[in-house]
Amino acid sequence: MALIITDECINCDVCEPECPNGAISQGDEIYVIDPNLCTECVGHFDEPQCVEVCPVDCIPKDPDHVETEEQLLEKFNRIING
Ligand code: SF4
Ligand code: SF4
Repeated sequence: MALIITDECINCDVCEPECPNGAISQGDEIYVIDPNLCTECVGHFDEPQCVEVCPVDCIPKDPDHVETEEQLLEKFNRIING
């Protein structure tokens, strides 16, 4: 499933450059993740890179975007093949 940034985000900008899919951007008030681009880092890394670097631990899984490992890999393939 895609991940989501909660309102505990302190806008530190540490996660945005770490995302291999360009899924993170600055929203109106806090940073946001595009669920169409977030693969939980499947295909690139073993662990979600944004979660690894976030200093306030505010990036849980998004229950509104439940996906299997297989679906995440399909998304990864879609993204890299344009
Ligand atoms: S889990 Fe990976 S792909 Fe998803 S937003 Fe975080 S860094 Fe980007
Ligand atoms: S690393 Fe965490 S606190 Fe910093 S911008 Fe990203 S989500 Fe917000």
